[in-house]
Amino acid sequence: MATVKNWQLKKDMKYPYDESRPNKQIAYVFDTNKCIACQTCTVACKTTWTSGKGEETMFFNNVETKPYGGYPLKWDLNTLKMMGEQSWDKATGAYKGKTIFDDTKGENVNGWRPAERDYAFPNMGEDECSANVNKGAFFSGIHDTWMFYLARICNHCTYPGCLAACPRKAIYKRPEDGIVLIDESRCRGYKECVKACPYKKTFFNMVTRTSEKCIGCYPLIEQGEQPRCVQTCIGKIRMQGFLSKPGEAKADNPIDQIVHIKKIALPLYPQYGTEPNVYYIPPIHVPTDFLHQMFGPGVDKAVEMYKNLKNDPDLLAAFLLFGNTPKTIHHYKREGDFTVGYNEAGEVLTKVPMTEPVYVRPYDDKDHGTFRHNTP
Ligand code: SF4
Ligand code: SF4
Repeated sequence: MATVKNWQLKKDMKYPYDESRPNKQIAYVFDTNKCIACQTCTVACKTTWTSGKGEETMFFNNVETKPYGGYPLKWDLNTLKMMGEQSWDKATGAYKGKTIFDDTKGENVNGWRPAERDYAFPNMGEDECSANVNKGAFFSGIHDTWMFYLARICNHCTYPGCLAACPRKAIYKRPEDGIVLIDESRCRGYKECVKACPYKKTFFNMVTRTSEKCIGCYPLIEQGEQPRCVQTCIGKIRMQGFLSKPGEAKADNPIDQIVHIKKIALPLYPQYGTEPNVYYIPPIHVPTDFLHQMFGPGVDKAVEMYKNLKNDPDLLAAFLLFGNTPKTIHHYKREGDFTVGYNEAGEVLTKVPMTEPVYVRPYDDKDHGTFRHNTP
């Protein structure tokens, strides 16, 4: 085992291979506050990549309801239970517990393999009441029940568990963009990656007898476009870009601004130790005790910052770029009342007003000699 730096845990940790960060790291920001679980992303991904034989219950992208939902069943609960106590140093913010690369009993990664049935019923019963509602019951004010939607894809981790576990070295991380891929010609279907990925985002195909996973839509990435799940997102909750190495953040890169500089988007279960590269804006209506376990100790600050977004024009400008262009934004700038997104070559991709313009039509329509009945 090598010793590598994990910036999300603020400490060194064990990993079977030496630290080797890609030149560019694909990264995503998902705003959980805006997701409506329409599953457009899921369908877009499914029809593009997993519509073949043996892929029937395979969802590279899924959206589940928290706290009770999960695909495959209990994917996170089982891993959290397996890891034992997880705590963070209050003063330094460093993680004090074990990662999936500790106490591995002779293997490279600590893991567990879901049963086939665990993949069979995604979203089943997730948005249903867990009990009868008493006759006459009603809500008064803000009630204390809560839920939120969690959209999930492969995290194209900096220290992938799947890659570390593969005895065939069939999994690799591309140096040009950090996308993690399985070479199916090398894969012999040992399912070690399925066992090792703590997010359960590698899948076994019973027909081809090989493993498959999200490919980050690399044919689109290579053309400067964002992946399918990002382009099609109805709620405009997603942005894909490239995250700079820790300590090299650039203020004009919207992903760096959101993740490294303002730290308003946080990794999912960073304690697993894989340094995942999908970053989430935590839901602002959920008790933070629950969110600490899910997104680490930065949750309170992130929630506070999100509630005051309008007071931080640079951050707001980055947020307004979500869902406004199919292309990948590398740089952005506030220009007057607009925020402008640029590609790698510095060409303008999108220009968005900082304040949504409001147009009020006059009550009487002089041209047609009539009144508009949709105005007061
Ligand atoms: S999320 Fe899982 S499948 Fe994706 S790179 Fe990380 S360990 Fe591998
Ligand atoms: S398309 Fe967007 S809003 Fe709809 S479920 Fe997917 S992530 Fe959520």
